[in-house]
Amino acid sequence: MKRLIAFCFFIACVAASLSAQAPVIGVSSYNEASRCQVNLTYINSVRRAGGVPLVIPVTDDEAQIAAIVATIDGLVMTGGEDFDPLKWYGEEPIRAMGAIDPERDEFDVKLIRAAVAAGVPVLGICRGEQLMAVAFGGSLWQDIPSQLPSSYVKHRQGPTTSAYGTHSIDIEPGSLLSRVLGKDRAVVNSSHHQAVKDVPAGFRVTARSADGIIEALERSGRLKGFQDGNGWILGVQFHPEAITAAGNPEFLPIFQELVGQAAARK
Ligand code: MN
Repeated sequence: MKRLIAFCFFIACVAASLSAQAPVIGVSSYNEASRCQVNLTYINSVRRAGGVPLVIPVTDDEAQIAAIVATIDGLVMTGGEDFDPLKWYGEEPIRAMGAIDPERDEFDVKLIRAAVAAGVPVLGICRGEQLMAVAFGGSLWQDIPSQLPSSYVKHRQGPTTSAYGTHSIDIEPGSLLSRVLGKDRAVVNSSHHQAVKDVPAGFRVTARSADGIIEALERSGRLKGFQDGNGWILGVQFHPEAITAAGNPEFLPIFQELVGQAAARK
């Protein structure tokens, strides 16, 4: 009996220390009317991967952002609306441009720059991947259908459920994404009309759809002209969180890798 109690105590201690050590993963949010919003799919994917999600409210206060970056072990930059092209990459908005949320633009750029400067591992999803171009000197296609008429793949699959992949991507063999997923081809969901155009220095393209649209970015070296803590960076144009949160484990390794990198840095 004593041995059983000792064993149970040991297990409880291990469980307590494991939960105390679980990395905290910041999840970017946005404001809608008077609410702070983020899809639960991001939060639940972080949880499934063993991380502790922490929703980060929109702010332009750099001291608040610095305090948050000092608190988190990893970061997910989430999907959303279009960036202001004139402000962030010097292009006039074309007619097919979508809605802009200037406060969120400012917040996202400040947050990812602070996280990258501190070496916090960052996973960018959809807009969060495009943010990597916007924040570090690249640019976007404002609207794939009107600017790239030869791009024949359907990149906006809605109203098809986002838990289901509809187009394929080819992944660069040996890249981070290929190692994490253990394959060089995948079928992904797609919910974007914009995409990365000019890839900033320090990043490389590691996945494309069949029509050549950029579907993943990762670090290739030091970021030029920006403070860089040399942390782990991965951006994907598709939505692994929608598939992961629906219970399909195919893209769970992306979140597990982020959580693992966050734990290693802790
Ligand atoms: Mn796509």
